[in-house]
Amino acid sequence: MSASLNKNQITSGLNEEEPLPDMKWRVLKACQWCAQRRRRDEEPYQACGACKEVIYCSKECQKAHWPLHKGPCRVSVQFQKTLRDEKGRAKEIAVFKKWHSTHWTVLTHTFMCALNYAAEPSIAACHFLFITVSPKPNHHSRSIPTAKKYTVTGAFVLTEAEGRGIMAANGPGQADRILNNIEASAEHQRARGKGNTLGRMLLGLEMEDGSRVLDCVTLQLPRPELAMASMQNSAWGPDDDWLSHLKRALENGVVFHSVAVP
Ligand SMILES: [Zn+2]
Ligand SMILES: [Zn+2]
Repeated sequence: MSASLNKNQITSGLNEEEPLPDMKWRVLKACQWCAQRRRRDEEPYQACGACKEVIYCSKECQKAHWPLHKGPCRVSVQFQKTLRDEKGRAKEIAVFKKWHSTHWTVLTHTFMCALNYAAEPSIAACHFLFITVSPKPNHHSRSIPTAKKYTVTGAFVLTEAEGRGIMAANGPGQADRILNNIEASAEHQRARGKGNTLGRMLLGLEMEDGSRVLDCVTLQLPRPELAMASMQNSAWGPDDDWLSHLKRALENGVVFHSVAVP
């Protein structure tokens, strides 16, 4: 990457009207090469077009400084990019969490169908439901509601060992850490007198940059007899093609009131 001196480049991207600490003010107003200070009646000095972190009184000074600045410049450009990427990633994950919490009734129903929980409640304790999703191409658009930003690409019932394998991909010790968290929240539920069985769900988000994010959620399952009633009252039960039903329900915003935990 080469640095260029853009005409009209705003020096360092900082607003000149904003009060700045004295030291910063002095640094920002001095040419990085000849240390000449800008007078207040002068045009703003132009910043390095790549990092925008240093300014020069002239093109000559910038050229003279470049062999020295080249290295640090590259480092700061990379650092700025990492910061932007991290911000974007954190934002994406927050939207994804909002998406799956919006759909908790559908996901709970799916969990019960996929594992046939009503018929065999103990299955919830030793299995996971794993759902993979990817963002829709236009999901950044504000006109797409959060509830519709992602598409389900797959869903699988996993054994304890398979679930651990997927969690371990997040790093060493991750499976234990996640499972301990789940156990702690079950403990908390019991202490509050809510003895609901917890369904364990893993949600895999395929990010646009190709990286994956794994989120783990617990679902409070209704008592088996209520779960059975909920199956019987809904259009899809354990024998149905629950994945197609799930996809349709997420698109159409179906809400299963009957699944709500009493
Ligand atoms: Zn200079
Ligand atoms: Zn630079």
